[in-house]
Amino acid sequence: MVTEKDVLAALARVPGPDGRTPITQSGALSGLSIQGAKVYLSLAADPSRAAAAEPMRKAVEAAVKALPGVEAVLATLTAERAPGAAGGSPGPAAPGPRATAATARAGVPGVKRIIAVASGKGGVGKSTTAANLALGLAARGLKVGVLDADIYGPSMPKLFGLREKPEILEGKIMKPLERYGLKIMSIGFLIEDETPVIWRGPMVMSALQQMLREVAWGDLDVLVVDMPPGTGDAQLTMAQAVALAGAVIVSTPQDLALIDARRGIAMFNRTDVPVLGIVENMSTFICPHCGGRSDIFGHGGARDEAARLGVPFLGEVPLDMEIREKSDAGLPVVATAPDGPHAQAYKAIADQVWAGLEGGAASARPAPKIVIE
Ligand code: ADP
Repeated sequence: MVTEKDVLAALARVPGPDGRTPITQSGALSGLSIQGAKVYLSLAADPSRAAAAEPMRKAVEAAVKALPGVEAVLATLTAERAPGAAGGSPGPAAPGPRATAATARAGVPGVKRIIAVASGKGGVGKSTTAANLALGLAARGLKVGVLDADIYGPSMPKLFGLREKPEILEGKIMKPLERYGLKIMSIGFLIEDETPVIWRGPMVMSALQQMLREVAWGDLDVLVVDMPPGTGDAQLTMAQAVALAGAVIVSTPQDLALIDARRGIAMFNRTDVPVLGIVENMSTFICPHCGGRSDIFGHGGARDEAARLGVPFLGEVPLDMEIREKSDAGLPVVATAPDGPHAQAYKAIADQVWAGLEGGAASARPAPKIVIE
């Protein structure tokens, strides 16, 4: 059985970011977890030098893999959150990948369509929508996966009540976790709960590529990607890096959220990804005591905005205690109250999304020429 001491001894022979100081003394080793014969490591890397850190990541994996008793190793590049960055929300766009003309967009063998669920800002219910949309698609008999790429606050472990780490299969491939018939992979399965991390530019690419390609997704009709909130650098990188068949934008009804949603639509337009439509979340509040309706954030704003922008309106989901309670308890409504009104709303959204995909959104889109300003 491999021990932490064995792993550290092996890593003492691997040079850190400066190419000389052993990684164990360089401060770059930011996390180590051993689960039986599997070793998980995180390596803090300077975001501006993330590409240069990739050989170090590979060397770390090779050194640990060579230890007797180690079956699989997963080393991921992370970086501590930049000092002063606002907790929980993406900071201002960092200097990121510049002219990435003709960036190859990653498709995934066996996965027919990849769709993104995005929002202009955090807290509008993007992840809740992504989870229930995925379940709604699965309820149609489709084979569905969920990739939680919300690097600022992965929610899928909580939304699906998943605490275990993915098993590593032959050839360093991770086995997605399964719940309610979905295959689920989250960056949150790989990072300790309280570790603040920020992934930028090449690190985002590397993490995303790993989660797309080094995961045994099997045959899927749809892979739903829960994007990080916002329209900054990391989101743009993702929109460019993945062969997306379409994007769903989640917004609350009020003006400010809609301005952010508009930015999201603009981002997908710029990256040539078809916008499948807008979901209005937290649309109407039904009082659990008196049954009265209140439009806390207004109502219908997203529908009007969709009409203005010429994109489909996919439907509205009310602000309801049951949705919040079930989401926070790892019991998403579409799976656990499939005949209730909320599940019906999500399923109707899923039907529209599917119709949008079937109606011509390409499953393999050519790489566009993009220059990021
Ligand atoms: P985001 O991914 O946009 O940050 P989340 O999906 O994590 O948002 O939702 C933020 C919070 O709002 C969570 O506590 C979630 O349970 C709650 N929530 C989301 N949608 C609804 C809804 N329609 N009704 C009630 N609570 C909701």
